[in-house]
Amino acid sequence: MAYIVKKRIGKTDYFYLRESKREGKKVKSVFLGYLGKNRKEAIEKMKEFKNKEENEDKQNIQKIKNTKLGIDSMDNKDKQERKEEKKEKRETELTIDELASFCRKKGFVYASGEIYGGLSGFWDFGHLGAELKNNIKKQWWDFHVQQREDIAGIDGSIITNPEVWKASGHVASFSDVSVRCKKCKKYNKVDKQELEAARCGFCGGELDKNSAKDLSLMFKTQVGPVEEESILAYLRPETAQLIFADFKQVAENARLKLPFGIAQIGKAFRNEISPRDFIFRCREFEQMEIEYFIHPDKKSECPYFKEIENFELNIYSEEMQKKGKEPERMKIKDAVKKGIIKLEWHAYWLALETKWFIEIGAKPENFRMRQHLSEERSHYATDTWDLQYKFPFGWQELEGIADRGIFDLSQHEKFSGKDLKLFDEETKKKVLPMVVAEPSLGVERAFMVFLLDAYEYDEKRQNVVLRLNPRLAPVKAAIFPIVKVDEKLVKMSREVYEDLRKELNVSYDESGSVGRRYSRNDEAGTPYCITFDEESLKSKDCTIRNRDDTKQIRVKVSELKDILRKLINSEIKFEKAGKLVETRMKEN
Ligand SMILES: [Zn+2]
Repeated sequence: MAYIVKKRIGKTDYFYLRESKREGKKVKSVFLGYLGKNRKEAIEKMKEFKNKEENEDKQNIQKIKNTKLGIDSMDNKDKQERKEEKKEKRETELTIDELASFCRKKGFVYASGEIYGGLSGFWDFGHLGAELKNNIKKQWWDFHVQQREDIAGIDGSIITNPEVWKASGHVASFSDVSVRCKKCKKYNKVDKQELEAARCGFCGGELDKNSAKDLSLMFKTQVGPVEEESILAYLRPETAQLIFADFKQVAENARLKLPFGIAQIGKAFRNEISPRDFIFRCREFEQMEIEYFIHPDKKSECPYFKEIENFELNIYSEEMQKKGKEPERMKIKDAVKKGIIKLEWHAYWLALETKWFIEIGAKPENFRMRQHLSEERSHYATDTWDLQYKFPFGWQELEGIADRGIFDLSQHEKFSGKDLKLFDEETKKKVLPMVVAEPSLGVERAFMVFLLDAYEYDEKRQNVVLRLNPRLAPVKAAIFPIVKVDEKLVKMSREVYEDLRKELNVSYDESGSVGRRYSRNDEAGTPYCITFDEESLKSKDCTIRNRDDTKQIRVKVSELKDILRKLINSEIKFEKAGKLVETRMKEN
């Protein structure tokens, strides 16, 4: 909800339109626009803002209607434009509700405890969803931990000593403030620091400061053998703090030398006031997070920068935003050279995180790096960037890249009374490392990104094709006999299925027409369908059908497992993996 904020600089008041937004453990307000120098003018401008947004919505609806109506007397150019518009429309057509209903129908995600009406902000992952989620986590862990020398992983507990949350500041300040409007009586969610100046986001009226209530976002629970003697504990609201609390032990045990990172994947819980947008904002979610530590005197040296300096990103700098310009695509080394991204470390993490998404199937055009405006930055950060994705409900943050300084480690030193400094071989001095970047990603958000970018309705096939990267696909291959009445064929298919499933998540499917089976697997994102026909019995071979282009190759059963392995890891091109065959039957 947007609201007006007053800032006094010298003797002049300046009014801004802001919106509350959660970022890590803090509630931040996001700058939406400048509203002028007096309250009346500001309220008018805020209305203009809203009208503008509504008008844009209306125009878009009209555009879609026009496309649907069509006009007969179009010349070729118009037709071409219409075609492109249609293409554009189809790709952006999927609303968040449609995604949710697709997920429910196919068994990716359901409302938790749906037979009892569900519970807002909680979701269950079905047989395909659980596989996809596991695959995303595995890919993330392989890329960030297994394949790197400088990052070690941990798995901390969900409930820990509550002192951890006192040190981190969560007990004192991890809350939202709700305030009631004196005029329209509606509740507003307001940033604590801006409570004094804030006005009602619905009507611009005065807020009743006496009604202001802190709502802690932490779920409380108790630990102990009997209720009376139990202590108050919390479900962790983020995974980061256990990385800090365990920091010294991990650094020593894993013999890490600065710069290094500690990674963790795990559940976190936040009692959000308004969970929304399907699984975008949940009350129970999973984080994949790294705290990356460096020597505080070596903030400007990133030894890995060269590896990725030519990677291209859509950069949306503070200047571009303030001048109303579009994001610009550029190599990160140029962004650093031009001083747009101030720290090589930030450029490195921005590029690396995007690379991870792109390499496993996300579309580069749906990502951009947005720089925080100087007025929205934390006081200790040199520069802050968000990795954003174009969701159906607009550009939203996926990860934030900022330097957090030594805040967390020094807090834990203070509260625990333990020395968390590391010995620096070079200077022979003890040093408290600083966090230069904290790449933190919600598994559920990544889940949405991969589904949205993979989802496509195929006009020719008349069904949805979920073009998930084979490494992410829940089921790697579906195996079926072309007819189920042929006992020998069924036996052969079953044997191959039993063998493959020892290593890969594969399914066996003999019900319905072959076309129906293909479309069912297209919709589940299964990259390969393996069929056995009469010829298979004689030649001990089978066909593999490629989900993305429906091409088919013929391969020997004895080579099947190895070929599948290579296909899944993109080690060979599909056409090169076997003998390309004419598709004998029409798929529909
Ligand atoms: Zn109001």
